[in-house]
Amino acid sequence: MRYLSTRGIAPAASLATALWQGLAPDGGLYMPEALPPCPPAWVARRAGAPLVDTACGVLAPFVAPEISPAALGTLLADALDFPVPLVAIDEGVWALELFHGPTLAFKDVAARVMARLMRQLQPQNERPLTVLVATSGDTGSAVADAFARVPGIRVVILFPAGQVSAMQEAQLTAFEPAIADRVVSLAVQGTFDDCQQLVKDAFANVRLREAVSLTSANSINIGRLLPQLVSYFHAAAQLPVPHGPAIVSTPSGNFGHLAAGLMAKRLGAPIARFVAATNINDVVPAYLATGRYEPRASRATIANAMDVGSPSNFERIRALYRDDVAALRADVEGSAHQDDEVRAAIGDVFQRTGYVLDPHSAIGYLGLRPALAREPGAVGVVMATAHPAKFAEVVEPAIGRTIEIPERLRACLERPRRVKALAVSADALGEILLS
Ligand SMILES: *Cc1c(COP(=O)(O)O)cnc(C)c1O
Repeated sequence: MRYLSTRGIAPAASLATALWQGLAPDGGLYMPEALPPCPPAWVARRAGAPLVDTACGVLAPFVAPEISPAALGTLLADALDFPVPLVAIDEGVWALELFHGPTLAFKDVAARVMARLMRQLQPQNERPLTVLVATSGDTGSAVADAFARVPGIRVVILFPAGQVSAMQEAQLTAFEPAIADRVVSLAVQGTFDDCQQLVKDAFANVRLREAVSLTSANSINIGRLLPQLVSYFHAAAQLPVPHGPAIVSTPSGNFGHLAAGLMAKRLGAPIARFVAATNINDVVPAYLATGRYEPRASRATIANAMDVGSPSNFERIRALYRDDVAALRADVEGSAHQDDEVRAAIGDVFQRTGYVLDPHSAIGYLGLRPALAREPGAVGVVMATAHPAKFAEVVEPAIGRTIEIPERLRACLERPRRVKALAVSADALGEILLS
């Protein structure tokens, strides 16, 4: 499979080039040259199939011919060594729990696969590599955990100071001794959008890129997107058979996960429709309503991993639908939610069913309700993206009791932290990258 830029100017790239470059040289995002549908008989055989099996079948065409199916199988079994269960949480509603990986967020799934793809395709004699990552909360720790274990890789994390949860901050600054020396954690005196801009500026800085081997592990990298195709096939495969049309609600910030869902539908994932569920950072639901795309500064919410005002993967969704908003509306509806609604939904679901949603997954749940009400007989799947314990300060008051903190998080809270403050300055970041 070759990869093409959404801007159509850069030459077609191999998977290795697309992975190691991150952003295409014309400033666009890489997309697979084709989305060949999976054989329907194979899709039908997915019912109840193990995750790694489904992942191999979905991803094999995208890594061929560089990576053989056998090598892919080994890599995926190593990366996806935790469960991704589909759990019934309400009448006609299931949650795909993508948060049982090392950092308890769905980003572990993609980051762990991506790190292994990159190691497999590492160019010969490549200089030590710096993975530069902007994070609004969860990406940084998942990427650090996945990549800093790969020899010859250093991870530099930028997060907005004071705008991540206490638990997230610990996870972004207190790493296990085995990887702590290979992670540089920077608390940026600005917003997530500033962090993202600093990363983009670093990639655009020719002088810097001559001196340092830089790559991104943000969802602008196609390596983050491809593994996310799998969660949609896996979710559909775990629903009880027979079932009505499946509506999948994806809590969205940078829209990588939803872009992957829409690609999965083209590949034949049996999903009728999607909900683009957001917090008040609702540029995509607004676009679906008005046809106008108006990115703006992000606003802080209790679902902070989704506080994105200018979602980078929207460019991929537009490319997929050739800018045809009517065609996009046929597959996706938007749904945006305020913090108070989110708190109430966490409390309501817990009261009625005993299931504890984190704020991000709760937004996915809220997005499903109108969609399911309109389509009797349909079933709903929420992409559950974070463990509620990561957001205990929001979840506990909402459900009126304490939740158990998993051992992994507790250990992290007790380790010493290492972090540097960084002004919103491309020069200051450049100095750190050169050191
Ligand atoms: C990153 C993240 C999201 C949003 O995913 P995107 O692909 O950026 O839209 C949702 N929930 C959680 C917990 C996340 O970490």
